[in-house]
Amino acid sequence: MTTVPHLRTEIPGPRSRELHAQREAAVASGFGITLPVFIERAGTSTLEDVDGNTLIDLASGIAVTSVGAANPVVRAEVAAQLDRFTHTCFMVTEYEGFVRVAEWLNEHTPGDFDKRTALFSTGAEAVENAVKIARAHTGRPAVLVIDEAYHGRSLLTMAMTAKEHPYKTGFGPFPEAVVRAPNANPLRGQGADAALAEIERLIAEHGPEHFAALVVEPIQGEGGFVVPAPGFLPGLRRITDAYGIVLVVDEIQSGLGRTGMLFASAHEGVAGDITLTAKALGGGLPLSAVTGRADIMDAAHPGGLGGTYAGNPLACAAALAVFEVLDDPGLLPGVTGIERSIRRHLEPLVDELAVVAEVRGRGAMMAVEFADPGTLAPRSDLAQRVAAACHAAGVIALTCGTHGNVIRLLPPLVIEEAVLEAGLDILTASIRTVVAEEAAA
Ligand SMILES: *Cc1c(COP(=O)(O)O)cnc(C)c1O
Repeated sequence: MTTVPHLRTEIPGPRSRELHAQREAAVASGFGITLPVFIERAGTSTLEDVDGNTLIDLASGIAVTSVGAANPVVRAEVAAQLDRFTHTCFMVTEYEGFVRVAEWLNEHTPGDFDKRTALFSTGAEAVENAVKIARAHTGRPAVLVIDEAYHGRSLLTMAMTAKEHPYKTGFGPFPEAVVRAPNANPLRGQGADAALAEIERLIAEHGPEHFAALVVEPIQGEGGFVVPAPGFLPGLRRITDAYGIVLVVDEIQSGLGRTGMLFASAHEGVAGDITLTAKALGGGLPLSAVTGRADIMDAAHPGGLGGTYAGNPLACAAALAVFEVLDDPGLLPGVTGIERSIRRHLEPLVDELAVVAEVRGRGAMMAVEFADPGTLAPRSDLAQRVAAACHAAGVIALTCGTHGNVIRLLPPLVIEEAVLEAGLDILTASIRTVVAEEAAA
């Protein structure tokens, strides 16, 4: 492999600029853009653009291409399915791939109980359907969600998402019966006990018979890669058990090996009544799943769930290939190795630079937060400039956080060690440069 990143032009290059101008004339401007570079092909953990630049991918298309964006097993399985047929609609005639994906998820999601799975296409659809199922099961209306949560862009999931801009501004009114509960964010001094007590209070205030479901990300994604204070997830399990509320664990970003275990909730020994997957599930093809206790899942009447493309055959074929990669016993230890490399590069910066507030995360879901020392006032300006410096140097890094002051790392789980090292060297150098420029200004 030639050394990466390999840059032949500035980023974005001339051909990308030309295409981006065409995009602006053709595509609705509501779509944001992290890095206006057009991609031609992918390697294991690199993306080659239309100007011949090879970029290091520390984003995986937002935690989707965990097995790489050009995985040969995914390509072979999808190509074979493409030769057979592309679609029947699972509600019209059946195909085996749908059943095999459901079986794998029933077996591997947390919880030692009888399960059923429903497949859809997007993460937001999975969240919406989990709420439908929880309502059908409990006969109750409302959903408890957590501060800083992200659950999608559809009307219900927008309401469940915390951050106003850009997700919600101008798009209301929103569905009712969404109640927001506090987070247990250790950096900001929000411990598990205080958050759980407040959640108990909210449930008492509205009455337990008000709540069908509590939906929680075991590690928050868009909200800032917040790993909840220890005890928070087990506490939510206890509370939901006590009041007959369905615990829905949104593993759409954190699941399927991302954190070094198959599911992030397993780090705390917690099993949701329902576990949601999407993103990495389809290996780059649109696929999402709701997997849960059989009696809860089957509360929805026949015909009540579905969708034209739900569990598309090509996406199911891709998922079965993803499962083959996940079943490789070397994979999860490799993810733990990614965490070690990231910590080795980034953790020294916490002592070295006052504005580097924290390095956190698990496995290949790691983040660095920028905030003023003492006040912890978010410094999105620094995160944005670090991301821009990485992009210019050929490394695709994403920001996140309610205040946009967090850089998040989501490399493919199969990233080669040398590529990861090169990417992290550029990231740490970018952080040092941006902070030094700031001090000089
Ligand atoms: C991305 C995401 C969603 C929404 O998934 P889409 O496929 O974009 O609809 C929901 N929950 C979490 C935690 C996510 O990261």
